[in-house]
Amino acid sequence: MAKIYTDKDVSLDVIKEKRVAVLGYGSQGRAWALNLRDSGIKVSVGLEREGNSWKQAENDGFKPLRTEEAVRNSDIIIFLLPDMIQRTVYLERVKPYLKEGMDLVFAHGFNIHYRLIEPPSNVDVYMIAPKAPGPIVREYFAKGGGVPALVATYQDHSGKALQKALAVAKAIGATRAGVIETTFKEETETDLFGEQVDLVGGVMQLMRYAFQTLVEAGYQPEVAYFETINEMKLIVDLVYEKGFSGMLTAVSDTAKYGGMTVGKMVIDESVKERMKKALDNIRSGKFAEKWVEEYGKGANTIKEGMKEVDNSTEEKVGRSLRDIILRGKPKS
Ligand code: NDP
Ligand code: MG
Repeated sequence: MAKIYTDKDVSLDVIKEKRVAVLGYGSQGRAWALNLRDSGIKVSVGLEREGNSWKQAENDGFKPLRTEEAVRNSDIIIFLLPDMIQRTVYLERVKPYLKEGMDLVFAHGFNIHYRLIEPPSNVDVYMIAPKAPGPIVREYFAKGGGVPALVATYQDHSGKALQKALAVAKAIGATRAGVIETTFKEETETDLFGEQVDLVGGVMQLMRYAFQTLVEAGYQPEVAYFETINEMKLIVDLVYEKGFSGMLTAVSDTAKYGGMTVGKMVIDESVKERMKKALDNIRSGKFAEKWVEEYGKGANTIKEGMKEVDNSTEEKVGRSLRDIILRGKPKS
């Protein structure tokens, strides 16, 4: 079993006297900046432009700085910008001001692992990857909890990179839950794999095909939506709280029998073969290369994909049912 670090294993001392520059004030950036500040750490918010998040940071009581200003006066530089812009920001606004003893910190290993960012050897490079979206990282912290995170070190010039990674993890609340150590390679490859074959790609495609199959066979779209898409959350919540056994215990015997026999016919071994192919493309760097190229050309695949989803029957039905679905949800 991997070692799990919790609050009692970690001290904030190694970062207490340091100034932290949080670059980006979006999903993760806002959460980290607020949590770090509440933990007594000196934080500067560095931004590329006076856009929405500039205003948000001001509303939260920060005085945002231009990226290079924030970098120049800080010891620990945390990249919480979209992965695809980090390389340019690094080359133009961070690298010129890097000094020995500074730290480059990431929430995802992509840019380092695929060598889009190649740091000099006299800085520490480490990662803290929270296992939840930014708003949850903030919400849990504010309520006294925290979301688990992975930490990793890529370059340990000071000899204290892991201690600092754990301290940052503590300051954002992650050790209140638990933190485990990984490598940039493992975090990057597993993260990409999960979102491609399962979390974002696989699950959405599975729900859409199930919905479409019912609708094409003449069933009412509303009924199909409840069954194939909406109920997914209820099942996943059961798995989240009680594991597969707990989920199976909660459903009927008919569902157990049908699920166990027909599930394997629909999602058969050939799916695993294609998952292996996806993993190969991640490990060889082929996927990263393709995504960087696509981003450089304007990422039309994403724009077109969003349009196709928006205009699909399942999405239209979902929009019209969401009011009913959410009306019945108890207020927590
Ligand atoms: P966001 O997309 O939420 O970042 C938005 C921030 O980046 C805003 O401050 C925004 O400013 C700025 N920004 C966006 N586009 C540009 C641009 N073209 N030029 C300059 N500034 C820009 O990022 P995330 O929080 O989602 O991700 C940050 C890091 O955290 C990534 O490495 C990601 O992989 C990692 N991560 C993210 C998780 C998540 O759940 N989101 C989970 C775990 C890790 P403006 O308001 O002006 O647009
Ligand atoms: Mg991911």
